[in-house]
Amino acid sequence: MTQNELNRFQAALTARVAELERVTRRRDDITVERNADQLDEIQAASQRTLAVYNLDREFNQLREARAAIRRFQEGGFGICQECEDDIHPKRLAAAPWALYCIRCQEAADRNLGEHEAASRDLLGRAA
Ligand SMILES: [Zn+2]
Repeated sequence: MTQNELNRFQAALTARVAELERVTRRRDDITVERNADQLDEIQAASQRTLAVYNLDREFNQLREARAAIRRFQEGGFGICQECEDDIHPKRLAAAPWALYCIRCQEAADRNLGEHEAASRDLLGRAA
């Protein structure tokens, strides 16, 4: 990896953290409203569930981006946290916060896929 690439990744990560910090701050106002209309209330409840789910995901992304910046400072940026192979520069260009090489990420995504399916079930029941 060239110093130029490193600089670019670091700039992208810093921008990403700033963006996510702004988004997650705005979500502080997930409110609990009581509605007279039962249908509205059901709708509001499922929107809250969705908002909490999105917030959770954004906080995870924020944590990953911050961890990647820490790896810049402490060393280990661009190294898979699972198998310690180099993460492909093209992958880093698309996702500089990536923790894993594509092979380990795909393995993790398969587990996450099941988790997300479970969350959708939950939303389906709330709606
Ligand atoms: Zn790996």
